[in-house]
Amino acid sequence: MLALLLVRRADHEADAAGDERAKAGSGEHLERNRIVRSGEGDTQRGYGGEGALGDPWREVASFGGRHDIEGRFGPKRFPGVFSGDAPTPYVSSPAMPTADLVITSSRVVTEDGVAPAALAITDGTITALEAPGRAPDARHRLDVGNSVVMAGVVDTHVHVNEPGRTEWEGFQTATRAAAAGGVTTIVDMPLNSVPVTTTARGLRAKADAAGGTALVDFGFWGGAIPGNLRDLQPLAEAGVLGFKAFLVPSGIDEFPAVSVADLEQVMDRLAALDTVLLAHAELPGPIARAARNGGDPRRYATWLAARPPEAELEAIHLLLRLAGKTGCAVHVVHLSAARGLEPLAAARAAGTAVTVETCPHYLCFAAEDIPDGATAFKCAPPIRERDNREQLWSGLRSGDLDFVASDHSPAPPVLKCLDSGDFVAAWGGVASLELALAAVWTGGRARGATLVEVARWLAAAPARRAGLEGRKGRLAPGLDADLAIWDPEATFTVDPTRLHQRHPVTPYAGMTLWGVVRETFVRGVRVYENGRFPSPPVGRWLRR
Ligand SMILES: [Zn+2]
Repeated sequence: MLALLLVRRADHEADAAGDERAKAGSGEHLERNRIVRSGEGDTQRGYGGEGALGDPWREVASFGGRHDIEGRFGPKRFPGVFSGDAPTPYVSSPAMPTADLVITSSRVVTEDGVAPAALAITDGTITALEAPGRAPDARHRLDVGNSVVMAGVVDTHVHVNEPGRTEWEGFQTATRAAAAGGVTTIVDMPLNSVPVTTTARGLRAKADAAGGTALVDFGFWGGAIPGNLRDLQPLAEAGVLGFKAFLVPSGIDEFPAVSVADLEQVMDRLAALDTVLLAHAELPGPIARAARNGGDPRRYATWLAARPPEAELEAIHLLLRLAGKTGCAVHVVHLSAARGLEPLAAARAAGTAVTVETCPHYLCFAAEDIPDGATAFKCAPPIRERDNREQLWSGLRSGDLDFVASDHSPAPPVLKCLDSGDFVAAWGGVASLELALAAVWTGGRARGATLVEVARWLAAAPARRAGLEGRKGRLAPGLDADLAIWDPEATFTVDPTRLHQRHPVTPYAGMTLWGVVRETFVRGVRVYENGRFPSPPVGRWLRR
C-alpha cells in the first residue's frame, strides 16, 4: 500500500480531498502533519521511501477538525486591508505560530553548495543553518530525509489579472499554483488587470485583491505608459519594486506602448527615483516589415516569422543607448532571441546596469517541434529554433543570462483559439507558474546543471533584481524561511486538469518533467504539502 501511494505521489496526483483540507490551518496542523514535538522523537521520512517510518499518508488521512478551523478563520478575504491612509504592510491572517522549527535534510542548497544541514526557523525567519548534529533545540522538528531543501522560487514575472480580469487568473488560483510549484514569492506585472497598475490607485486595487487571498508573498511592478510620468513617483513611494514598459503594443488597450521619446523621459525619471525599468524588448519596425509576408495563420512558422529576432535586437540596442544616456537601470524581460545576449553582456562589461531574464518555455521547447495549430505555445516574443534554445542555455550557464522567470500569462481557453488553431488571432501567453522549477530543472539536469545553479536562476538572482535580496531568495540566517522541498530525481507527467492555475491550458501537457515539489513553506508556514494547501492565505505584500 505504501509503495502504491508513493507511486501516486510521484505522479503528482493530488488527493481528491486536498482542496477541502486547503481551508484548514493552525499550529495544530503542524503537529498533525508529522512535525513532531521534541521528546516524541524525530520523524524520518524521505519521500523516495528511504528511511520512511510508518505511512505518512495514513497520518495525513487522519487529519480532522477542519470545520472547526475553518470557522475560526472566518471569511477567507479580509476586506479593506488597504483602506485609510496608512499603507503599512499587513499580516493577512492570524497565521499559526512557527517559532522553533528545525528542518533537516541531507541536501540543503545554499550558494556554497549542497550539503546535509539543519535549518532553524523562528518567527518565520531563518535563525541558523548548521550541520545536522549541531542543530539548536527546537519545539518542532521535521526531517525530510533526502529531499532537497532549497530557497523558495521567486518568480518576478507573473500576470495575475485580478482585479478586473479575474476570470483569466486570480490571486487565489495563481498563488495556489505558485505554492504547488515551490514558488514562495511572486511579483505581479502591471497589466491585464483592471485597472492597470499605472497609478497609486491601481496599486491599491491590486493590493486589496491580493490581501487575505494570496497564499505566497507578493510584490508589484508599476507600469510606465504614455502620460503617466507624474504617477511614477507616487507608485514608487507606495512600494512598487520597479516599472514595466512596452515598446510594442501589449495586447491590452489600457496599457499602451511608449514611444522612444516617452521612454527616454521615463528612464530619466526612474533614474532619479533610483529604480529599475523592465522592458518588453521588441520594437515595432521589424514586426511591421515581417507582417508583409503574411502566411497561413495555423502554421507555427507564420507566427515565428511575424516576430523576428531583429525586433528584440533593435529594442535591446535602443534600451542600452538610453541606459547609457539616462543612467537608468534596465531589465530585459523574457528574452527569446539569444543573439541579444552579446550586446547585453558587452554593455554590462562596460558598466551599464542591465540584467536579463528568459522563460522556461524558451528553454524547454523548440520551434521545429511545435505542431501547426498548437496555439498553447503562442507567446511574444515567440519560442525560437533549437539552436537558439541551446544558446540561451549557454548564456544561463555562463551568467550572461541572469535568471529565469515564468511570464505566467494565462487567458481563458477561448482566447487561446484552441479550436481554430489560429496563431495570429490567439492570445499570446504561456501559463507555467506551477511548472517553472520542474521545467528548468528538467532542461538543466539534461545539460549538467547543478541544484546550486537552479537556486540561483530561480530564487537568488530574481530576488536581487526585485530588491528583495535582504529577505528572499537564499537560505541564510536573517532571511525569510521560504522553502521549496522537492525531489529532483522524481518525475511526473503534466496533466493540465491537475494544475492549480485557473485554466487547464499549457504547452507542457503530457510532458514528463523531473522534479516533484513536496512541500512549500512561506516564512515558516507550510502552505503546500503533496497536493494540499494546509494553511490560510498568509501571503504578505513586499514593498520596496
Ligand atoms: Zn509578461
